[in-house]
Amino acid sequence: MDLTFECSQCRMIDHVDGVESAPQAFCSHCRTGRDLAPGSFDAVGRPTACPLCASADLYVLKDFPQEIGLAIVLAGFAVSLVVWYYGSRQSAYLALGASVLLDLVFYRLMPDAVVCYRCGSQLRGPGVNRGRRFRWFDPAVANRYRREPSRAEESKSREASVEPGGTDPAGGPMPDAT
Ligand SMILES: [Zn+2]
Ligand SMILES: [Zn+2]
Repeated sequence: MDLTFECSQCRMIDHVDGVESAPQAFCSHCRTGRDLAPGSFDAVGRPTACPLCASADLYVLKDFPQEIGLAIVLAGFAVSLVVWYYGSRQSAYLALGASVLLDLVFYRLMPDAVVCYRCGSQLRGPGVNRGRRFRWFDPAVANRYRREPSRAEESKSREASVEPGGTDPAGGPMPDAT
C-alpha cells in the first residue's frame, strides 16, 4: 500500500511505498523521517488507522479526477448538440445518456483511496477499503478536526495575552470614571 503524506517540516508532499512494513515516512525534500504509528493495519493488512498520525477517523474517496468526469459529460453534451442540429433528437438523447453511463462506469472502475481527516494523508492500494470499513467523507467529522487546532491556538493566544497583564488584576485606576 502506498501512503501519500504532507511533511510536517517543509509542507511538501511525498509518499511511502509498502507502508505496511515501513518504519518511517521519509521526506525526500527536507530529508526528515517521521516514525509511523505501529498497529495501523490489522492482521489481514487492512488499514485501521492513519499510519502517520494514528487517527482512526478515515474516509474513503474515489480516486477519480473530477476533470475527467466533467470532460466526458461535456463531450457527450457537445456530441448530442451536433446530432440534435442534424435533426436526430433521439440520437442526441442517446449520446447524452451514453456519456453519463460512461461516467458511471469509469467511476466504478476507479480504485478507492482512504484519507485521514486529521492530517490528510492518503492510502492507496488493493484492499485499502476491503469490507467497506470506511465511509464517505462526513463534513461533521471534518469540522471536528478543523476546530481542534484552532481551539488550541485560541487558548494559547489567550494565555499569551493574559501573561503580561497578569500582574495587574482589575485594580488599575479608571481614567474615564468621572
Ligand atoms: Zn519535508
Ligand atoms: Zn493522519
